[in-house]
Amino acid sequence: MSRRYSRAISGLMSEYATRVWSPFTQMRADAPALPVRRAEGALIELEDGRVLLDGIASWWVTLHGHGQPEIAAAIAAQASELEQVLAAGFTHRPAEELADRLVALLPAPLQWVFYSDDGSTAVEVALKMAYQFWRNESAPGRKRFLRFEGAYHGDTLGAMAVGERSLFTSAFDDLLFAADAVPFPATWDGDAEIAAKEERALARLRQLLAEHPGEYAAMIVEPLVQGAGGMRMCRSQFLVAVQALLHEYDVLAIYDEVMTGFGRTGEFFACLTANTQPDIICLAKGLTGGFLPLAATVCSDRVFAAFCGGADRAFYHGHSYTANPLGCTAALASLDLLAAEAFRPLAQWQREEIQRLKGHERLGRTRVCGTIAAVDVLVAGEEGYWHEIGPRLREGFLKRGILLRPLGNTVYVLPPYCMQRDQLASVYDALCELVDAL
Ligand code: PLP
Repeated sequence: MSRRYSRAISGLMSEYATRVWSPFTQMRADAPALPVRRAEGALIELEDGRVLLDGIASWWVTLHGHGQPEIAAAIAAQASELEQVLAAGFTHRPAEELADRLVALLPAPLQWVFYSDDGSTAVEVALKMAYQFWRNESAPGRKRFLRFEGAYHGDTLGAMAVGERSLFTSAFDDLLFAADAVPFPATWDGDAEIAAKEERALARLRQLLAEHPGEYAAMIVEPLVQGAGGMRMCRSQFLVAVQALLHEYDVLAIYDEVMTGFGRTGEFFACLTANTQPDIICLAKGLTGGFLPLAATVCSDRVFAAFCGGADRAFYHGHSYTANPLGCTAALASLDLLAAEAFRPLAQWQREEIQRLKGHERLGRTRVCGTIAAVDVLVAGEEGYWHEIGPRLREGFLKRGILLRPLGNTVYVLPPYCMQRDQLASVYDALCELVDAL
């Protein structure tokens, strides 16, 4: 155990081994946090010497793998040059270069980059931007938002408001503005009902748009894959149809690509995989290759233009660390690594591995989108996030040296792009072994 860690745990309340309040954790009941010493590639080494294979890229951020030397070196060089400067009234090369490179990769309409800190703030920025856009456009009646059922967009109040209500939000429901929900037509391999589900979802969207003409500011979408909601996947053609309806009613499309960005769905962004063009896109997580918190909300010329003019039209939003030079530098180094497109072979291996699970009597609804693969463990009782099998599976994987965090009875694999073929196979071997033992 490192000196630092042992110092941190000495002198604590006797009951607990930590003062750190973990997220999404019942501190008195859940298993204590595992102390980590170091990490490299797809491996995480614990203080007690155990090594875990990171099957979820440490919450979907560690794009290329842990400790990528190119990113670490770029950050170190930047740190001795310019570590931080306020973003209002100042700019710098890493922020400018990153904005240029992001815009070059994104669909043509997306031109203006607003930096913030994480996925939730990227979403907050997008929501405020869309809301004020209509005010500035002299259409202040456009106050409503549309969302999908099962959505998750983060944990700040605005982001929660456009997400699914659940135990995660219930303490705050009174604080959350309403957002009208449209069914999400989740699909999987061999799903015979998908066309009907899509038609129902589109019919509901059409109905809401027709009932509230001129009232919607924007619809927020996790394109192709709803992440925390259960790795639920939809088809590109559905997103194309949604886009057509939003265009018809002049409602902005916000794509939350916090999880799906940077190769996850098989192309650089899900909007490219789906061949759609949002008005605003939210990027975070993999943006810096998992090294530093940084987010970007990128909008179209049309949206940006509405904020130009008098002081009352400006966008009054910002954070202390907006456009942090170290974060921007990490992102530039990450984009350099991304050019090798290591997500493409990984996507192929995921399809092959998922294929192996088909026909397993305890597994169903296999699905793959690019580098993201998921399968449901067939269980008795109500399926979903709160199914008791989730923690049991997590524990079983840990015992086998694998870090996965099943979403209830949904097991998903979302590896860093450096994961080797045999490492990936070992994750699926463990899954089969565990499920067989249930
Ligand atoms: N949006 C999506 C689609 C996410 O999956 C997440 C986090 O999982 C967020 C937003 C929130 O991002 P963060 O945890 O960085 O605030």
